Amino acid sequence: MTKNWNRAVATSEARLRRLAQETATGSAVAVARPDERTAGDEGDIAQVVIDGEIAQRVADLRASLQQQLAKALDRLELGRYGYCEDCSEPIPAERLEFAPEATTCVPCQGRRDRVR
Ligand SMILES: [Zn+2]
Repeated sequence: MTKNWNRAVATSEARLRRLAQETATGSAVAVARPDERTAGDEGDIAQVVIDGEIAQRVADLRASLQQQLAKALDRLELGRYGYCEDCSEPIPAERLEFAPEATTCVPCQGRRDRVR
């Protein structure tokens, strides 16, 4: 069980590193830039505005993901990757598989989300 967990965490660790790299170079999240749309097509300004808002939200999401990735990488440096920041229990492998940037277990994350 622990052996499997270690192996699963090592896999998530590799994914975390790759994800951090991709996010830093911007290839992980494709942002539709309004200025790159084909110009002059019925002047769909409303669509461009919406695209701008979406781009902003994507940028925000990317920023917070980058922040979370950086935190997870810090945990990695400390040798605490895969362990919950709050309760220090091992984070279930399935959670790390789903979210390699996770630094808390589900109950602790739930507690944080409620506080916010
Ligand atoms: Zn926890």
